[in-house]
Amino acid sequence: MTLASVSLLAGPPAGGWYKEKTLSTAADFAALELGDQVAQVCKKCDSISVVEIQSKDQAMDFCKEGATIDCPSCGNVAKVVRTGPPSQSPQKIEFVDEHGNACMFMAKLEPKSPADFQHGHKQ
Ligand SMILES: [Zn+2]
Repeated sequence: MTLASVSLLAGPPAGGWYKEKTLSTAADFAALELGDQVAQVCKKCDSISVVEIQSKDQAMDFCKEGATIDCPSCGNVAKVVRTGPPSQSPQKIEFVDEHGNACMFMAKLEPKSPADFQHGHKQ
């Protein structure tokens, strides 16, 4: 299994009104605002759970080293790890299973602006 297989969100989501921004560093999580919607994508069962951010603490819990996040669909438990040496900033956040394989990722859902439709480009 490689980390290169992150093509799950390549297409538009159902409805097509949101675009996703993958949350891959602590700074990404720190930038979340109250009311933001975060997609929790389980690679084991391909399910997407949407979580609404209700506090900054909640957002930071998602990227706290050693924290665990359960998949409500298949019971997969992902552990938060930070990759790269501590001196390196920003460290990448990954969600791994008991074997250390990336088994989940998170993405912020952002409402599309009219410009996204006019120009048709993603991100
Ligand atoms: Zn799952």
